[in-house]
Amino acid sequence: MPPVFRFAPSPNGYLHLGHAFSALLNFDLARQAGGRLLLRIEDIDATRCRPEFEEAIYEDLAWLGIAWETPVRRQSEHFAAYSEAIERLSAQELVYPSFESRAEIARLVAKRETKGAWPRDPDGAPLYPGTARSLSPEERERLIGEGAPFALRLDMAAARRRTGGLNWRESGEGPAGETGEVAARPEAWGDVILARKETPTSYHLSVVVDDALQGVTDVVRGTDLFWSTSVHRLLQELFGLAAPVYRHHRLVRDEAGHKLSKSTQATGLRELRAKGASPADIRRLVGLP
Ligand code: GLU
Repeated sequence: MPPVFRFAPSPNGYLHLGHAFSALLNFDLARQAGGRLLLRIEDIDATRCRPEFEEAIYEDLAWLGIAWETPVRRQSEHFAAYSEAIERLSAQELVYPSFESRAEIARLVAKRETKGAWPRDPDGAPLYPGTARSLSPEERERLIGEGAPFALRLDMAAARRRTGGLNWRESGEGPAGETGEVAARPEAWGDVILARKETPTSYHLSVVVDDALQGVTDVVRGTDLFWSTSVHRLLQELFGLAAPVYRHHRLVRDEAGHKLSKSTQATGLRELRAKGASPADIRRLVGLP
């Protein structure tokens, strides 16, 4: 079976050099391995994703000389599959709804921080304090019945008890040079959100469901997602799914050394193209042969 690679952008802005590097690397590696390349549109966030950005993704990738298989999977068309996955976790009593707003969570965390440092996740956000875990089933039903907004969270401690130790095979590198067999540390993320009332899935859940459903064998993506892999390994284990091989790659940075953002024009592919850059120039700019 040929290996299956994928490039999975979110259409919430125009692609920049960082995306070009990731997409070209996936394309090159798939070619070298005689494998397939899929393109997946990760558009679960209806408030930020726009059709013109999606169109631009197809245009920019084609301009770079990248070819991908069709049909393209668009996550917004598969909410039912993600809901079904959450139900399987719910049936194992690993999911609970939390009702606090972001501001309320910040207040709860601030209160705990008066008694000492409160743990933060690998992205630097404070862990959810777990307050809603102890709500009674009646209380949960009442709040949902009243139409209160909620987030469905994974009960991390319970999930961890089901799975025990987990590793993944890393053929790239983590932020501190981690490579080879890496021990997953999903507990570093606390009770992660799996879905919200208005978005019945999350990045972690849909990426795991789709990578498995699409038979992805090689996940090649930026090192900023390195520790997310811990959560992905945990979900794969809970669902009984095979783990792909991971290859996290360096991030393309701007002249000041900052991570690129979708709103910086200087590194946008459209801007560079308008200024006369060729696809070969883009390869050179991101350090690819
Ligand atoms: N959609 C994610 C992003 O644009 C990438 C997901 C992944 O490669 O796992 O950052």
